[in-house]
Amino acid sequence: MVYKAEYIWIDGTEPTARLRSKTRILEDDRAHDNLPIWGFDGSSTNQAPGDNSDCVLKPVAVFPDPIRGGDDILVMCEVFLVDDTPHPTNSRAPLRAIAEKYADQDMWFGIEQEYTFFKDGRPLGFPVNGFPAPQGFYYCGVGADEVFGRDVVEAHMEACLEAGIGLSGINAEVMPGQWEFQVGPLGPLDVGDHLWVARWLLYRIAEEFGISATVDPKPVKGDWNGAGCHTNFSTKAMREGYDPIIAACEALGARAEEMVRAYGHGIEDRLTGAHETAPWTEFSYGVSNRGASIRIPWQVAVEKKGYAEDRRPNANMDPYLVARLITDTVCSAAV
Ligand code: ADP
Ligand code: MN
Ligand code: MN
Ligand code: MN
Repeated sequence: MVYKAEYIWIDGTEPTARLRSKTRILEDDRAHDNLPIWGFDGSSTNQAPGDNSDCVLKPVAVFPDPIRGGDDILVMCEVFLVDDTPHPTNSRAPLRAIAEKYADQDMWFGIEQEYTFFKDGRPLGFPVNGFPAPQGFYYCGVGADEVFGRDVVEAHMEACLEAGIGLSGINAEVMPGQWEFQVGPLGPLDVGDHLWVARWLLYRIAEEFGISATVDPKPVKGDWNGAGCHTNFSTKAMREGYDPIIAACEALGARAEEMVRAYGHGIEDRLTGAHETAPWTEFSYGVSNRGASIRIPWQVAVEKKGYAEDRRPNANMDPYLVARLITDTVCSAAV
């Protein structure tokens, strides 16, 4: 007997990388911790020139495949060059070093992935001409006039759970056709692996419904919410006391400009200061403040321990990159 392994990797598309995948048939005596490396044509993914096109896929995380079922699997991979060094587009490799360096601080991440469904060139729920009723009732709404795409969302949630993704919830968002799922809390490498595979499952499941999902951070211009990837984080010390939470906010403030530029292409279009965002040029933090760069949830302020939420990352951010920057910044300041 044989089984199917879907090898998934992140390509070199600029300014925002995309997911790619292809299927390999494996003998069933092949243990999941001993999956073969594989290759692909990097000249078709903006990862290599045509005259030297081979790139290497190294399996790093394995999930049961909820779509094919049976013994089939999804395999998240890192991309390498043929000389066995990480490809320049491989953002997981530098995260590995940082995650290991600060493993003793036990960083956890919970990421809120917002996204938007599109059909026939417009957001799901938008009329052929003009716009739907203004925002106000869609967030966590119920009913056919408020909610668009719930069948896809339910199918995606089920698939994530079957795959063993560390999903913590879903909700309808502020704009029609816009939704969110949350992954975590998980460690820095796991949260990235799980989020990238959850994104792949979202696109793959929506495909079955003839719908496309996008992580475009500002899918509709004007008075409509953008899509973010709020990144909740905590070290062991933050989960035990309040001073480390304030210290983490201060540390992030000291590197704000450098970090916000790595939080996803088009950040200046989303972080305008309107629509529950802080302007991308200013750094702030505050309790319960959804207009701040970093929000400290009210229960955290009451209990004097817990986590903080970096509200700046765009929906199209790379969780490997964002987890590396936050881990490095917060943990180096705590030492
Ligand atoms: P919001 O109120 O901002 O919409 P959500 O409920 O959507 O928040 O998401 C909060 C996320 O924070 C969840 O993924 C949750 O698992 C995660 N989280 C909870 N506690 C912690 C913690 N101590 N460290 C990191 N993440 C956490
Ligand atoms: Mn949320
Ligand atoms: Mn949200
Ligand atoms: Mn949030």
